Amino acid sequence: MKSSSPRRPRILLIYTGGTIGMIENPETEALQPFDFDHLIDNVPKIKMLNYVIDNFSFNPPIDSSDMCPQHWEEIARIVETNYHLYDGFVVLHGTDTMAYTASALSFMLENLRKPVIITGSQLPIGEVRTDGEENLITAVQIAAATDRHGSPMVQEVAILFENYLWRGNRATKRSADNFNAFKSHNYPELAKIGLGINFHEDSLYRLHNDEPFKVHYGLDNRICVIDLYPGLRREAFAHALAAPDTKGVVIRSFGAGNAPTNPWFFNELRQACDRGLIVMNVTQCVGGSVVPGLYAASDAMLAAGVIPGSDITTEAAITKMMFLFGQGLSDEEVRQRLAAPLCGEMSIPARNA
Ligand code: ASP
Repeated sequence: MKSSSPRRPRILLIYTGGTIGMIENPETEALQPFDFDHLIDNVPKIKMLNYVIDNFSFNPPIDSSDMCPQHWEEIARIVETNYHLYDGFVVLHGTDTMAYTASALSFMLENLRKPVIITGSQLPIGEVRTDGEENLITAVQIAAATDRHGSPMVQEVAILFENYLWRGNRATKRSADNFNAFKSHNYPELAKIGLGINFHEDSLYRLHNDEPFKVHYGLDNRICVIDLYPGLRREAFAHALAAPDTKGVVIRSFGAGNAPTNPWFFNELRQACDRGLIVMNVTQCVGGSVVPGLYAASDAMLAAGVIPGSDITTEAAITKMMFLFGQGLSDEEVRQRLAAPLCGEMSIPARNA
């Protein structure tokens, strides 16, 4: 008689580097990326899961401070090539730029219906008190989890860190030393990790179409970010807006999207928008939203033609711009798509009545 034992979940681990796999350089005592074998040898418990776990490693693995759009394309290509061979994907990544990678992948992996779970750790996996072992094992379990219909529980790019699973394009690194290093200030957690993994099914992303999975490459990084601050000089602002070969700018404004009411600020911005620069307004606050027109101090932005970014994170705004500029769209199409959610990265823009 044939055995009816359930099929073992198939997970692909993609190791890019980061603290989780680092070791100390004996001469400088600084942490540096190390190979995948060292990492996995330190997690013998992973075999208890009885999953099929294969791996792909960046060569060499990197500190995530060196992450760039070419690396996002490499990760996306690995997911695309293996999409039908695995139930889920776990990306091991440094924490420093994890939220950027999660955001970029969320835009690049269109119509994703499988989990892409990104994790890492604050302490290397070889350390006695490491958080890496638990994060890795929990991420693999989440990547294998199914709902009551047998479909993947998570069908989006998400960050698993310590006690929470966050939507990738909503998360921000909020602490350089706390084990709960990530948070999404404007969107609830997708799961809470305690004794069990408690998924919040109402918060999980679900597609409402039958379109096939499609990976987009060719990000265009001709953008820049300007942080507003009291005392910002006109020359510095104008210089940043006129940086050669720049197509888009993310302005990180005050509070609900406010900016200086000086006429020079408006004039510089207006001229830049008239030259064809695409400018998006996001708030410097970790929580809350840009609300155009709530204060007179946001009028200049609106009147100059700046796109309000609702409650999008800076990480998602930057990668969304790079993504859209790389898709061969007209400026008008880019502007329209920046103003509305593509894959759960922002709430429907608030309008001030
Ligand atoms: N510098 C490290 C990285 O992002 C920090 C970490 O992984 O926590 O690669």
